[in-house]
Amino acid sequence: MGNRLVDRVVLVTGGGSGLGRAVVDRFLTEGAKVGVLERNLSRVEELENEYSDSVVCTVGDVSSADDNVRAVTATVEKFGQLDVFVGNAGVYDHRASLESLSMGQIDAAFRELFDINVKGFLLGSKSAIPELRKAKAPSIIFTASVSSVSAGFGGSLYVAAKHAVAGMTRQLAYELAPRIRVNAVAPGYVPTQLGGLESLDASGVKSNPGLSALDLPLQVLPTPYDFTSIYLLLASGESSVMTGSVILADGGTSIWGPGPAVR
Ligand code: NAD
Repeated sequence: MGNRLVDRVVLVTGGGSGLGRAVVDRFLTEGAKVGVLERNLSRVEELENEYSDSVVCTVGDVSSADDNVRAVTATVEKFGQLDVFVGNAGVYDHRASLESLSMGQIDAAFRELFDINVKGFLLGSKSAIPELRKAKAPSIIFTASVSSVSAGFGGSLYVAAKHAVAGMTRQLAYELAPRIRVNAVAPGYVPTQLGGLESLDASGVKSNPGLSALDLPLQVLPTPYDFTSIYLLLASGESSVMTGSVILADGGTSIWGPGPAVR
C-alpha cells in the first residue's frame, strides 16, 4: 500500500482485463479513485464487486464519443474531479499480413481496429481534457506498444495503428503543453486476453506470437502488473519533466526482433 496517488482521480479505458486491470489495481493501492470505461459487462461486474466505493464503471465502447463523455461524467460525478486519463483499450490483428487479407477484410478490419486503437484514444482525450484542465497536475497516458516503434510483432493494421499512437502522444503533448502532460507506455508481449477483430475470421489469420520466456532477451515473460510502475511514474508528479515520451518496456524484444515475416 502506497500513497503516491492520494487525492488523484484516474479514468482508465479497458480497465476490466490485462494491462488496464493491473493499472486499476495498482493505482487503487496507491490511494487513487478510479473510473473505468469497459465494454465487457462481466469484467465490469467483477470490478464493481471487488471495489464498490473506490471505482466507478461505465459500460461502453471507446469508439463512441457518447460513451467516452458518459465515462468522464460518471467519474467526475462520483469523485468530483479528473486528474489522469489512461487510454488503454485495444484489440489485435493477430499479425495478419496484408497479402493474406482480401480487400473487403482490409476495409472492415481497418475501420474496426483504428476506431478502437486510435480514435478511441482521441475521443477519450477530447472528453477528458475540459476536466483535466481544472486539475492540479494533469496527465494523459496511452498504452502504446513495441509495435509503436518496431515491425513484426503485429500485422500491418496493428503496427500502423500503434505507430499512430506514438504520433498522437507527441502531437497532443505539443498541443496541451504546458497544462497537461501526455506520455505513453510501450509494452512488449505480455500474456493477456487481448482480443482479435470481429471483422476478421480468426481461423483465416495467423495467431499471435505466443512467445515464451526463452524467446525474450531478458528471459522473463512479464505479467501485466510488471508494467504498472511505469504508469504510476507517468501519473504522479515524479515525472513532471516528461511529456511527449513513449517509454519502451519490451524486455529487449525489439533488439532481437520478431524473426522472419509470417505469411
Ligand atoms: P485485454 O484484452 O486483456 O484488455 C483490454 C480490455 O479492453 C478488455 O477488458 C476489453 O474488453 C476492453 N476493450 C476492448 N475493446 C474495447 C472497446 N472498444 N471499448 C471498451 N473496452 C474495450 O488486452 P491487453 O493486452 O491488456 O490490452 C491493453 C492494451 O495493451 C491494448 O491497447 C493493446 O494493444 C496493448 N498492448 C498489449 C500487449 C500484449 O502483448 N498483450 C503488448 C503491447 C501493447
